[in-house]
Amino acid sequence: MDRERCIDAGMCVLTAPGAFDQDTEDGRAALLDRTAEPGAVREAVRPCPPGAITIVDQSLT
Ligand code: SF4
Repeated sequence: MDRERCIDAGMCVLTAPGAFDQDTEDGRAALLDRTAEPGAVREAVRPCPPGAITIVDQSLT
């Protein structure tokens, strides 16, 4: 997740509340659980307006 690109839209938190939350200070999102269900995280990528969320396949590294 690129917090510098986050515009506080909150779509990731609405889409995958177990995986993301918004900072109460600056409103930017943070990944809460790196082991969150991949399908939920994948669903959160699409509605993110600035494209601040990127999924990296750890099995390829
Ligand atoms: S959906 Fe994107 S822009 Fe909106 S809070 Fe989440 S990371 Fe930030």
